[in-house]
Order: sequence, then C-alpha cells, then structure tokens
Amino acid sequence: MDGPASCHPSTPPPPDGDGTKLPYGLAEDGRLAHVSEVASGLGCRCRCPGCGERLVARKGAIKVHHFAHHVDRACVGAWETTLHRLAKEIVLEARDILLPDAVAEVDGLRHDVAFATVFPYEAAEAEVNMGGLRPDAIIRGRGRELLLEFHVRHPCGPEKLVLLRERNLPSVEIDLSRVPRHASRAEHTELVLRGAPRHWLHNAKVVAEEARLRRIAAERAAVEKRRLQRLHGRIADEVAGAWIEPASPGHSSWRIRAIDAGFGGFVGRSVPGAGCFSVAAETWQAAFLDHVAISAAGHLVTGDAALRTLQKRQMLKAPFQIRRNWEPELVTHIQERVPGFRPPHEVITDYADWLAERGLLMRVRHGWVAAQTVGWKARQRMEAASEARRRQGELQDKLGTLLRAAELPWTDTASWLDRAVPEFGVAPRVLAEEGGEGFERLMRRLDELERMAQPHASPYEGGLLSLPLDAVRLRRRDEARARQEAARLEREEFARQAAERRRKESGDFVATLVLDAVALMGEDAGTAWVREAVGAATGLPFDEGRFALDWQARNRINEAMAGERGRIMAAREAERRCLDREAEAAAVVAGCRSRLEAEVIARFPGQPDWAQMWLRGKHPALGRSPWEQCVDERSLERCRSLLDAARPKGRRR
Ligand SMILES: [Zn+2]
Repeated sequence: MDGPASCHPSTPPPPDGDGTKLPYGLAEDGRLAHVSEVASGLGCRCRCPGCGERLVARKGAIKVHHFAHHVDRACVGAWETTLHRLAKEIVLEARDILLPDAVAEVDGLRHDVAFATVFPYEAAEAEVNMGGLRPDAIIRGRGRELLLEFHVRHPCGPEKLVLLRERNLPSVEIDLSRVPRHASRAEHTELVLRGAPRHWLHNAKVVAEEARLRRIAAERAAVEKRRLQRLHGRIADEVAGAWIEPASPGHSSWRIRAIDAGFGGFVGRSVPGAGCFSVAAETWQAAFLDHVAISAAGHLVTGDAALRTLQKRQMLKAPFQIRRNWEPELVTHIQERVPGFRPPHEVITDYADWLAERGLLMRVRHGWVAAQTVGWKARQRMEAASEARRRQGELQDKLGTLLRAAELPWTDTASWLDRAVPEFGVAPRVLAEEGGEGFERLMRRLDELERMAQPHASPYEGGLLSLPLDAVRLRRRDEARARQEAARLEREEFARQAAERRRKESGDFVATLVLDAVALMGEDAGTAWVREAVGAATGLPFDEGRFALDWQARNRINEAMAGERGRIMAAREAERRCLDREAEAAAVVAGCRSRLEAEVIARFPGQPDWAQMWLRGKHPALGRSPWEQCVDERSLERCRSLLDAARPKGRRR
C-alpha cells in the first residue's frame, strides 16, 4: 500500500481511547463490513483490516457497537487503515463526488476559477501505479481523469505535489482526518463523497489563473517599488538637507540637570549618526538620561519611547521623526546620499548601550532600564544641588544688599565669592555649596556687616571678611565718637543747669528765710539766726552756703524756723495775757478809786481840799491813805465805812 510518494500513514499513531475498537471488520469476501451488518460475537467472521487477526462484534446494550480483537492485543493504526480502505471502497462504488472550489490566490490577490461542483464519473480505480505516483484513487468521467488522495493522517507531501504539477494531473485531496469513527456506513459515505473538507492539489486552470495573478502582482510590485523609490528619494532629500543643519546648543537646563544628577560624565559623548538631533549631544543625551535614569527609573524604556520623548522636546530634526519606518532599502538609499547616516533608533541604541557598558543602565530584551536606586540617588543629588544654588543666590543677594547699603560701587563679587576668607579658611561659594553651620555663620556675619553699613549704625569691630569696608568702618567710628562727644556735652549742660537751678532755689529760699526771720525776730536777730542756720547746715561761709542748701537742709531749716516761730509766738502770747490782766486790775482800781473820789468829794461839798486831804492822807485806821487802800470793792467798802465816820466839820448826815 505505501508507495514511494504515498499519503498513507507511515508511522503508527499513538493509541487513543478507542484503541482497538473498530466500526468495520474485513469480511471473508474481502470487503469491509460495518458492525451493524454482521452477527454478534465471533459469528461476525471478520478479521482486523490492520493486523488480520480475528475480531468479535460487540453489540451489547450499553456501549457503542464495535469490533474488538478476539485476542486482546495492541493493534496500532487499525482505524486509519480501515478508513483509507473504506474511502477507496466508497469511491469505487459511487458514481459522483463533490469537487471543491477552485481558487487562485497570489500575494493577497484572489480569483475564483470554479465553484464547488458535483462531478459524475463512469469509472473508478484504486491504487494505480502511475510510475512514481500511486494515487489513492482515479476517477474518469466526461473524458477527464481525476486523481483523488485521502488525507487520513498526513496531508500530501511536497514531492508529490511537484510531480502532480509537472505531469499536469488534476487532483483533489479529501481531508478525512476528522471523520468520526463511530458512525453509520451511510454517514461515512456522505462524508467521503461530499461532507469532508477537500481542496485541489493541482488544477490547470488555477495554475493558469495564478500565473495571471502573479503577473498582476508583479506589475503592482513594480509600481509600488517605483513609488517607494520616489518616496525614498524625497526622504533622502529631506534627510540630506536636515543632516547638514547645525545643531543648536539647546536649553542649558538639560545639561545643568544632568550635572546636578551626577550624570555629567555621561553626556556629550560623540555618537556616529547624531546628525538627526537638532541639539548638541550633551543636551539630547541629558534629556535621554533624564527620561531613562530619573523619570522612568525602574521601568523599561524602549528606543522608540526614548525617541518619542526627545521628539516631544523638539530635539529631533523633522525628517527623523520616529513615525518614519526606516526600511533597510530606505536606509541604504539614504546612506548613498548622506554618508554616516543612521536611523535615530540605532543612534539611541549606540548611546544607551554605551551607558549600559558603564553600568548606568541595564540592557534588557526590548530596551534599557535604570535601577530604581539610580533614579533615587539622582533625585537626591538634584535636590542637594538646587539647595546649594538657592544658598548661592541668598549669599549673592545678601552681598548685593550689603554693598548697596555701604554705597560701594564694587562689582568684583565673583572673585570674592571664589577666594578663601581667612576667618573661614574656604571661599564663600564653597560655604554656600556645602550649607550647614559654616554657611549660617557667614550669613550672620554678613548681616552684622550690613547693619554696620547703615548710616549712623554702631561701628562693628569684628573682621571684615576681606570686603572693602574699612572706609565705612572708619566713618562709623567717627560718627560714634562724635555722638559720644555730643552726649557728654549734653550731660554737662544738663548738670550745669541743674546746679544753677539748685543754687537759685537755695538763694531764693535763703532770701525768703531772711525776710521771715527779720519779720519774726527783728533785723539783727533774724539775720543772725539765718546766718547761724545756713552755716550749721552747710559748714560754709554764709555767702557760699546761702546757695548750697539742698532740699533736706532746707527742710531742716524750715522746721527749725517753724520751731523758733512757735517759741516766739508763745512768749508773746504769754506777755500779752499778763499785760491784759494788769490793765484789767488797774481799771478796777481806777474805777473803785474814781467812785471813792466821787463819794469823798460828795462827802466834803465845797471842801475839795479836805476831800483830797482825806483821800490821800494817811488814815490811822488803815496805816495808809484810802486812795492807796482802795483797790477793789472790798477795800472800797472799807474806805466807805471810814468815810461815813468822817464828818466834815459842822455837819453830820
Ligand atoms: Zn488488528
């Protein structure tokens, strides 16, 4: 059965679940008998189409009816052999078969040559040796001969296809590989003749049509090729024009960022083919690093993604935009016109691989990746750099304010920033870069100097940090000395005025005191008392001491004066009272005597001399004159009684 170019199974199939269960057995007449057509058990009298052993027909109530080997054995390929044989039997017995669509198809061009049709035939033959070819069956009808191949396990091989085409033998392959095993004979027949998939192995009309389609395709390809050549020519023109455009430096912030991030040593590399970039190498490389090693650290970055980023930053010249498909023909074409040209992704790859060799990136399947720690450290360094720059700015502002305040036209700040200040041992710029206590101290010192620079500020005696502030400091010192002198004069004037005031107060006090004392004690005593008091209070001669009395001394003198005044007034009062009493007594005496005199005169009418003699003469009873006796009512009464006794001569009352 297996010919030199057969489609038949040549290797045993792996045992499947159905293993040796067969729907057909080989009957004694050499034909295949379906299990439904035979008696049960060994009475079926069938043998295995594969190995020829005796079969039993199992026609129970539960399982699908089938044949099994009488003696159980591993019989491989029995079903495939059976199906092959069955298909040939079916074709030999039938008289028509469905032929498939004939379709010509070349490079996406397709043409239906003939639709599926039922082919009636008069004769059929199996396993015909055709000299190197042994088709499964040949059918003949309408004067035509058609070869049939059954694909049970393996489809038709290429050598056989070549033979079929060389000999121009119309042939169809029917695909029986998926025909179910347990079906009725009628179902199997239907599948073989019509239902199973089938296709032309060789069809002259299809071949002719394919030749036509190939010509069409070739023409189209030629047109396309010319179109591409024109397109490539245009692109090459654009590329050639753009290639010689000089690259601009690009924004310096990229380079600064790269340096800040610690990537300064990785940018500015000369990469062949970099004419596609519109900016200098250090700029696009800094932007690339910014993307790969900072923004996207830890993530895969493909060459395309990197180029998209650069394009977004307008770092790629227009003809090199990544949307362009750099086919090898195009590249070759351009390279003929532009020596050194490379597609941008090759340039990026070159540079990225160089970075990978230096350990900054890792090469991965479709691109590159920077470790997360690389990005993290870069960010830290950038932050530190930005802080350092902020401090530099602060320092320069501070310096500017100081110089303006000092009205110094000095502009050589850069050299000051870069020269070591003796007090700190390093340059101010370095202090600002490092930050920390040194920088803080420098700023405080500049604050102090700035305060000194303000007009009329206190002079600052600390170091001047190598700044040209000596003149300012001298000015401040002069100003301070002038201020001190002015203050001293003011203090002296104040003291002088105060002394003057005290002197005047003292003098006024003494003048008033003298007036009071004189009024109180009389000219001499008053003046003497004041001199005495001033001398005692001051220990000075009066003409000095009178102006040297402080308020305590004045108080004491006032008190003394008040005491003196009290004493004098009390004495005067006592004297006055004494005088009053004497006057009163004198009045009483005078009154009594006056009355007595009147009475005496009345006693001695017309005899005033008598009257006077009695009154003033010594009375024996009294031992003195009644005048002298009469000092009060009682003595008046006594005198009266004596008067009564005295009668003028000749008369009696
Ligand atoms: Zn067998």
